Amino acid sequence: MKIAVIGGGPGGLYFAYLMKKHDPSHHLTVYEQNAAGATYGWGVVFSDIALSFLREADEEFYKEFTARHERCDYMEVVHKGVHVQLGNNHFSRTARIDLLNILQGACRRIGVDLCFEQRITDLSALSGADIIVAADGANSHVRSLYAEAFRPSVEQRRNKFAWYGTHQLFHPVSLIFRETQHGIFIAHSYQYSRDLSTFLVEVDPETWQRAGLDRKSEEESRHFCGEVFRPELGSNELLSNRSPWFQASIVRNENWTHRNIVLLGDACRSVHFSLGSGTRMALQDAIALHDGLVQNGNDVAAAFRYYEAVRRPATSNFQSAADKSLDWYENVSRKMHLDPVMFAYDYMRRTGRVSHDALRERDPRFIAAYEAASQAAA
Ligand SMILES: Cc1cc2nc3c(=O)[nH]c(=O)nc-3n(C[C@H](O)[C@H](O)[C@H](O)COP(=O)(O)OP(=O)(O)OC[C@H]3O[C@@H](n4cnc5c(N)ncnc54)[C@H](O)[C@@H]3O)c2cc1C
Repeated sequence: MKIAVIGGGPGGLYFAYLMKKHDPSHHLTVYEQNAAGATYGWGVVFSDIALSFLREADEEFYKEFTARHERCDYMEVVHKGVHVQLGNNHFSRTARIDLLNILQGACRRIGVDLCFEQRITDLSALSGADIIVAADGANSHVRSLYAEAFRPSVEQRRNKFAWYGTHQLFHPVSLIFRETQHGIFIAHSYQYSRDLSTFLVEVDPETWQRAGLDRKSEEESRHFCGEVFRPELGSNELLSNRSPWFQASIVRNENWTHRNIVLLGDACRSVHFSLGSGTRMALQDAIALHDGLVQNGNDVAAAFRYYEAVRRPATSNFQSAADKSLDWYENVSRKMHLDPVMFAYDYMRRTGRVSHDALRERDPRFIAAYEAASQAAA
């Protein structure tokens, strides 16, 4: 089979790797608009459950990928300056560029053609392909080209984000809530390598304007956010890697396939990063599409049906949890009066998917503190 993959992000590369490894007679070409070493952002985080599926799909890649991960088995919610620890929340962190480098190396070793600095704007150039995988990200060009067939919807959420790095090491995943004279600033931070942490700043649009961030340059914004979180950053500064303010867009598609074209990863559906699972979803898409093709041979339509049957329910479940998480962050001002333990509890229950008992099982000490705090409040 001749398969063209548009987009050399985690989803496109992993799919190409799995297909070529399963059957070296397939011709796989990945077209990526950027240069080989380019990426945006800093580290990415996975919950530990999020990685077991990779081991099942391909042990070799799993081992190489997880070898240098930073791990921690608890997280922290920092509210009113108090650090509340939440035990038994396992996270694995890595640099996004490391993930891409490992995938590129694995693809090269088995003979996937990687074409960098090649932006695909017209699919007629790929007319010889049996399958075209559109793994071209949340702003997918392929999805726009065939919008009538895919019927996408893109919902822009209100909060503003800037994705920084820092040499300050946040060993646990740390969510820091800071009240300022302008409003609330939130930092999502975690160490992902020996000497770097991700530091994603979130702020509602009204606070953003009151703080004058709408008029500040990228450099001035970076400096401003560094001062907001000075107590946590110590003497370290925030670092920039194409870090302008942006808003999250939530992508959905009524149809995931059209003729021999299939959407994969963020192009197909995006989940908000407050749940830190977009990369995992893209990798799981790659596995399901690969499985569908392996099980159905040359019957591409049957393979696409399998892919959608497996991935649609997971997507809907996840997107509805992510929506609740987003609502929580966007309305956090209503929760800021809570004492730190009650606040952390509310955060943990925000998607409705984690019960009180499940939390007790994870961290009995935290639940005892919560029950004492709510009794005192009553
Ligand atoms: C601030 C932020 C933090 C995040 N944190 C996490 C996290 O902690 N954990 C997590 O799991 N996920 C996280 N994500 C989400 C994650 O980055 C995405 O879900 C994931 O990268 C999706 O992979 P993908 O392969 O579908 O798309 P992408 O990674 O977007 O890759 C698409 C690729 O296609 C290329 N491309 C686009 N158009 C064309 C074209 N026409 N021709 C050729 N190439 C093209 C692009 O250059 C890009 O390399 C985060 C996202 C953001 C914005």
